[in-house]
Amino acid sequence: MSQLPLHHLFHPAHADHYAETIGAGLEHLLGQLRQVTGPSTGTQPADAAARVAAVDLARPLGDVGSVLTEMSQLWLDDAVWFHEPTYAAHLNCPVVVPALLAELFVASVNSSLDTFDQSVGGTYIERRLIEWTAERIGFGAEADGVFTSGGSQSNLQGLLLARGRHERVPAERLRILASADSHFSVQKSARLLGLGDDAVVSVPTDARHRMDPAALERSLAACTALGLRPMAIVATAGTTDFGSIDPLPAIADLALAYDAWLHVDAAYGGGLLISPTRRHLLEGIDRADSVTVDYHKTFFQPVSSSAIIVRNRATMSPATWHADYLNPREATDPNQVDKSLQTTRRFDALKLWLTLRTMGPELLGGYVDAVVDLTAAVYAVLRDEVDLQFVGAPELSTLVFRYLPRDVVLGEDGLGALNRAIREDLYASGAAMVAATRVDGIQYLKVTLLNPMATADDIVGVLDLIRATGARLAPELGALVEEVAQQPSRDLPVEVVR
Ligand SMILES: *Cc1c(COP(=O)(O)O)cnc(C)c1O
Repeated sequence: MSQLPLHHLFHPAHADHYAETIGAGLEHLLGQLRQVTGPSTGTQPADAAARVAAVDLARPLGDVGSVLTEMSQLWLDDAVWFHEPTYAAHLNCPVVVPALLAELFVASVNSSLDTFDQSVGGTYIERRLIEWTAERIGFGAEADGVFTSGGSQSNLQGLLLARGRHERVPAERLRILASADSHFSVQKSARLLGLGDDAVVSVPTDARHRMDPAALERSLAACTALGLRPMAIVATAGTTDFGSIDPLPAIADLALAYDAWLHVDAAYGGGLLISPTRRHLLEGIDRADSVTVDYHKTFFQPVSSSAIIVRNRATMSPATWHADYLNPREATDPNQVDKSLQTTRRFDALKLWLTLRTMGPELLGGYVDAVVDLTAAVYAVLRDEVDLQFVGAPELSTLVFRYLPRDVVLGEDGLGALNRAIREDLYASGAAMVAATRVDGIQYLKVTLLNPMATADDIVGVLDLIRATGARLAPELGALVEEVAQQPSRDLPVEVVR
């Protein structure tokens, strides 16, 4: 009689197997970490896809060594490392070690935060952190909130709560006002809430990409004149591209005047809540009805870790549903599911908890200041270089710019193609990673700096690499552009315009 092998299950009787497995994993990870020489290996999609596709999922490898070796071949050997100082692409942070320690416990114990009877103390740890964040925002004793999977979910929930105030207003009459530079999850939320794509009114921004309150007032007045209901204003505290912070006090005044819900998307700028020197940049955030904070961005936490915080707990009721098998109406337990869009939910709060209990908020906030200072220092060094055109001075920790070749004439399409080619070349080289974006139809490059270990020399080095790559690629592109100009029937080759 063969017996079902049960040692794969987490259990005290299998503690040795658990320790061996986790120990082997730790050793493997450290070995790999010590070999990292850059943010990426420049692996292309087709190569990564082929290697994963070749795996036969019906034939397990069994032993941990083989499994880890295969995992490395498929993924880890070519992973993108956010701790590398020359990684400067998206809003990814290097993560703090106390949070990684927490991850081991979160995953192993596997508490689920939907109900008290699945999490016990975990419920109260999450609640304390929500209270702590609410205090930092400046909310009073009525505040509440819940951890979410990320800023997109937090924004969706904020808008769901705003929608909840207008149950009897038909969807087609509701409007959400957000700046032209707000995050796309606002648009997606409108779709998910059944309001449609036209429900989001794009409010113009000023030269620093902050919502223009005069334009907001005009939009609000125009909505009202048309018989539409401005149900929510989304102010962004740290736009994804520019780190711009909308003028919160002026926007709060207008939200009050028009009885609109004020949601502040501080997914990126939320880290300023713990900054020892820059908390004032968020002045007025305490007047919001709901706030999005992404701990997995500017609190240096592993994904996922985010929260929606509300000024008044009574407003969370649109997220409440009672199920007889989980959280019946008469339940007296503190069940977090009553406030969440998720049911089964990770105990992500433990990561921030161990972080704060190890480091304290001052030190963590010091990391936020470090990356903002770093960005200012890099800009000061490079702002006057003639082959770099910056869209503006940094607001938080991003720089948006493009490379302009000195003696090759390319035109707008050619310049766009050149800057995209620089980014791809950098990725393929494995030496550095930057992002790209468009502003008013023009192609730019972007660096997002969230690594307190990176120095100004590191980042100036990345921009110097961009300039050297641009200078190398520009003549090739220039020749192509000229060729095309001589044959008006021909378009630029696809790979150039892409
Ligand atoms: C990153 C970001 C989001 C989305 O957050 P996720 O955690 O990626 O879902 C929303 N708003 C802003 C301003 C962001 O920068």
